[in-house]
Amino acid sequence: MNIKEILESSKRAVIISHINPDGDAIGSSIALRNILNKYGLETKIVLPNTPAPNLRGIDGLSDVVYHFTSPEDTSKLSSQSSEIILNSDLIICVDFNNVADRILSLKEPILANTTAKKILIDHHQSPPEGFYDWMFSDTTKSSSALMVYCFAKQLGLTHLIDIQTAEALYLGMMTDTGNFTYGNLTSEVFETIAKLVEIGVKPNVLYNKMFNSQTESQIRLRAYALSERMFIDRELKCGYITLTKEDLEKFDFVEGDLEGLVNMPLSIDGILNSAIFIEKRKLIKISFRSLIDGVDVNALARDGFMGGGHVNAAGGKVLSNDMDIAVNKYLEKLKQIYNK
Ligand code: 5GP
Ligand code: MN
Repeated sequence: MNIKEILESSKRAVIISHINPDGDAIGSSIALRNILNKYGLETKIVLPNTPAPNLRGIDGLSDVVYHFTSPEDTSKLSSQSSEIILNSDLIICVDFNNVADRILSLKEPILANTTAKKILIDHHQSPPEGFYDWMFSDTTKSSSALMVYCFAKQLGLTHLIDIQTAEALYLGMMTDTGNFTYGNLTSEVFETIAKLVEIGVKPNVLYNKMFNSQTESQIRLRAYALSERMFIDRELKCGYITLTKEDLEKFDFVEGDLEGLVNMPLSIDGILNSAIFIEKRKLIKISFRSLIDGVDVNALARDGFMGGGHVNAAGGKVLSNDMDIAVNKYLEKLKQIYNK
């Protein structure tokens, strides 16, 4: 079946995105839901957990259903999320590709619904083979939001993009490109932005909403992390930040407070690789970044940290609360890569 046939033969769709949904997960999900609803397909969004506070004010989030209250509190289940998925005849995964890896137990109703068609719109590496009935998987795209725009364009549906949808698309494109500073900034990105601005998006307003809306404790935590918990290894061209549970408690940490901080070591001259290690209840969550001349962090995250992502931005974890174990594993990998 081609995508048009799949959409035409579906009655109720559900869009799923990854745990700790970021601007791109949220933006691409809202935009796609709005477009499909206007197209005539009843579409809902189910997310594993709530986004960070600075994302909660985004227009279009109010009727999203969350599976867990937080990734740390997986006991509080919303049965509504499973029901929606089980009652859908089209399941659309956006901004992640592996249901076994990125959505916790939300995978169960998806796997239980054997009759629904499953489609993918995503820009991460290595989509699973044979799982989806139709895939739009392209690692050269800088955001899933851009892919949703391309999807709408391909189907001749861009006239359905209203201001809420345009803002959601802009949000995803802005956040996944580090406010248009990372790689993959093609002419297509800027052509699409131009269209969104024509529809009425105000880039400065969305930038302020996203990046100039932090809490005081969030800024102080970031300052503390940089002054007390950032370590530089010039030989391995890397900088990394480690934060323990005690550090986080001191600054009333909430999920999302450290978003983007992992990039800071990269702004030091000569540093090409960075990581942030954040202690959770029973594991250490790690984000990896690299500049274009740095290491392939997707391979690194896949190899040693049960994770993945993109060549220059990836994430993973170590199932231990021992910071030294996690950090040494990272440094050992870099030593291997740089033959040190
Ligand atoms: P972040 O470090 O901002 O959480 O994630 C960076 C990129 O890596 C994102 O594209 C994200 O989807 C991906 N990523 C983060 N953590 C994981 C993980 O545990 N597994 C996989 N497969 N991808 C991850
Ligand atoms: Mn993305």
